[in-house]
Amino acid sequence: MSGTPITLHNSLSRRLEPFAPLDPERGVRIYSCGPTVYSDPHLGNLRAYVFTDTLARMLRWKGYAVTHVVNITDVGHLTSDADAGDDKMEAAAKARAMSAWDIAAHYTGVFKSNLADLNIVPPTHMPTATDHVAGMIEFGQSIAERHCYQIDSGLYFDSTTVPHYGRLAGGQDDAGEGRIDPVAGKRHPQDFAIWRRTPPGETRQMEWDSPWGRGAPGWHLECSVMSRQYLGFPFDIHTGGIDHREIHHVNEIAQNQAFCDCADSGARFWMHNNFLVDRGGKMSKSKGGIATLQSLIDRGVHPLAYRLMCLSAHYRSELEFSPENLLAALTRLKRLVMAARKAIPPETQEEDAERGSDYLAQLDAAVADDLNTPKALPLLETMLADKRLAAGAKAALLSAFDAVLGLELRTLSREALRVRPADAALAAEAIEAKLAERRDARAARDFARSDAIRDELTAAGVEVMDGDPLGWEWKVQL
Ligand code: AMP
Ligand code: ZN
Repeated sequence: MSGTPITLHNSLSRRLEPFAPLDPERGVRIYSCGPTVYSDPHLGNLRAYVFTDTLARMLRWKGYAVTHVVNITDVGHLTSDADAGDDKMEAAAKARAMSAWDIAAHYTGVFKSNLADLNIVPPTHMPTATDHVAGMIEFGQSIAERHCYQIDSGLYFDSTTVPHYGRLAGGQDDAGEGRIDPVAGKRHPQDFAIWRRTPPGETRQMEWDSPWGRGAPGWHLECSVMSRQYLGFPFDIHTGGIDHREIHHVNEIAQNQAFCDCADSGARFWMHNNFLVDRGGKMSKSKGGIATLQSLIDRGVHPLAYRLMCLSAHYRSELEFSPENLLAALTRLKRLVMAARKAIPPETQEEDAERGSDYLAQLDAAVADDLNTPKALPLLETMLADKRLAAGAKAALLSAFDAVLGLELRTLSREALRVRPADAALAAEAIEAKLAERRDARAARDFARSDAIRDELTAAGVEVMDGDPLGWEWKVQL
């Protein structure tokens, strides 16, 4: 590792702490809680993966090998985050008259294609919960005697058997959905299911035999099992959205402590991204009506505009989603792409050899400081506009910024960023042909014809942008 030492915010201490891998030979080991694949991921969910991807990119750029695990929750997550309610997968299967397995396969595919659209580096491993049920049962058996009790509805973890239960939630351990859950026979409200038995007379599409009866694992168990299997305890960084800080990660930590019979949480750093909110509050799948990445793409907005929007806020700050914010990000991305295109051909300005390393040091200082991407972006803009930077140095710097921020500025074309909804009335070629005709009409001073063409385009939802500072001649209205 070279350059500025890394500091990261650790939710365990609520402080910035110096970061170095626990085992330098193995590089950095990161586990990110993955999606529950019962519906399309919404933009808020995807913010969590833009964050972890940028974190992993920064660490790689700083010279570390990174092993990144993102699990797929395809069983066990209930409609509340606690132990009451239906299993999200089974409920979706019932509602859509599909098999739970088909639902899982479909939405896992959607998630993976969203990751690719956002230029997220494919995680090293993407294990599914259903492939790890045997491991979950084994893990459960190893902690059952000392830390769990059985009641009619299944095997429960006794939260009083581990030190400092709820420390991660930071004094909020009587908040959250898990605290009001009405499962009969639980010893403490915070206790949670390790294994949920299928109620007598019912069958589930996804169920397995276990020493505690036929049923399905509790949601928290999969992350303890898969993080340990793929990364080993303790690993370096565990991530998730800030909602996981209150229940899911608290319970993972309790399981990990029970497993190791020690006070260790299983990971050195626990990091949480804040929410993407809309004016109505936190975006959530259960509220419905939330935007998906595909809905932005269908409206003609390039997905990397959403990535840029995420990077323009610090991951620990709330970020408001609105069409205006998204379009502002799109415009910013267009400006960056135009500046990047100009930067790559050799320039002949007065050059200053020192400047390149200066920018590199500033990029390093920004991202090593708890991933301060909002600081890195204006630096990128200043760098691209700097006339005293040699063209070669600029291209090399652009590669560095792309490596960390994942915006693909070296290759993204200006054309790809034009707003062009999937259901637009006119194809791009037809619009270009009309505009060429309009140019000819204007050259011949036939302004009536020129205006008529403009009106025709407006009626088809195409805005003609004469004199646009970004050089766009048209866009399709959103
Ligand atoms: P889920 O599919 O509900 O298990 O969530 C996948 C990831 O998205 C988790 O890390 C959540 O904490 C995170 N998440 C959920 N809602 C939001 C939101 N509105 N903003 C940011 N992250 C979120
Ligand atoms: Zn998890």
